[in-house]
Amino acid sequence: MTDILSEAQALFEYTRSLRRDFHAHPELGFHEVRTSGIVAQELNKLGLEFNTGIAGTGVVALLEGAKPGPVILVRADMDALPILEETGAAYASQNPGVMHACGHDGHTAILLTVAKMLLAHRDELAGTVKFMFQPAEEGMGGAEKMIEGGVLDNPKVDLVLGLHVWNEQPVGWFGISNGPMMAGAEIFKIKVEGKGGHGAAPHLGIDPVLAAAQIISALQGIVARNVAPLQTAVVSVCTIHGGEAFNVVPPAVEMTGTIRTFEPDVRIRVLQRFEETVLGVAKAMGCRATIDLERLTPATVNHLETALSIQIIARQLFPDADIESANYITMGSEDFAFLLEKVPGCFFFVGSANPEKGLDAGHHHPKFDFDEIALPQAAALMAAAVINLLSSK
Ligand SMILES: [Zn+2]
Ligand SMILES: [Zn+2]
Repeated sequence: MTDILSEAQALFEYTRSLRRDFHAHPELGFHEVRTSGIVAQELNKLGLEFNTGIAGTGVVALLEGAKPGPVILVRADMDALPILEETGAAYASQNPGVMHACGHDGHTAILLTVAKMLLAHRDELAGTVKFMFQPAEEGMGGAEKMIEGGVLDNPKVDLVLGLHVWNEQPVGWFGISNGPMMAGAEIFKIKVEGKGGHGAAPHLGIDPVLAAAQIISALQGIVARNVAPLQTAVVSVCTIHGGEAFNVVPPAVEMTGTIRTFEPDVRIRVLQRFEETVLGVAKAMGCRATIDLERLTPATVNHLETALSIQIIARQLFPDADIESANYITMGSEDFAFLLEKVPGCFFFVGSANPEKGLDAGHHHPKFDFDEIALPQAAALMAAAVINLLSSK
């Protein structure tokens, strides 16, 4: 096991230079043309069989082990975010307004490193490794599109693995949850329609601003009164727009927001109460409301047995590490959940913050950057997990 870590450390320069190159040239979801081109180029150098153009810019490579066995898919996301970078790093974005502020540059570099490492261990593998380089993780449905494009078939995938560098925790920390770990997310739009009029004569109109205010307040009752105290949910109204002038009651108000849940029964209950509350309160205020609800991702829920074996591997690889196993949960969401909905597997976090080096801004922040020491750690854990899971079966 310790050999795997030194193998990953020996490839540190390879991983870091790829990561910095991706970082300097970020591309938004479904536009990862340069990035996927470099992925293809590197896979070509390794001599791996691969297909491009899945879901637009997605790339899928195959590594067949020496012996037959199950198929494990390992996934990296490649997209950046529409953020103006403020890190001041030497390798900062050369594409103003677009930035790798989530660490997907690292994920792509890590997966190429894992491919390189596993190739050297081909003789020990009883099974096949499928490498999935995915476009558009950031709320644009890249994973779903790759599933539609057949990423889980030919050969049929038995297990899925993924990781995220994680700046909420320091380097040397690993979060490998036994079950639910990231929330399922819905996006909602609400339109409240009343009747516009003069601000000085409200009785002649129907005020959608007051109705919207009542709806926002009433929605807070769902988590407080309809979700069991030991269960989890979030209902957040995040935008509200209505009106143009101080003395005009507007005809309509629009709001958007998000709902986050883990358990399917909680989700159903919250969505039902959400609809009843919005429509009912609007009606009571004399208005009419319409709701547009879209499911962004299901909850990310790990397969217990797989999570337990990766925890054991992590403890062997990093005896001094802080490994959080029981229930590290965040209300963030991940489209890896779509893969986990179809196939069992495990998604884990690799701590990547280093406050002493000033590398502790959160994900999606213009100053986001992480300690690159996390790169070989992540590659080692992923490669060791694959070797282990394909030799124990
Ligand atoms: Zn993100
Ligand atoms: Zn991310």
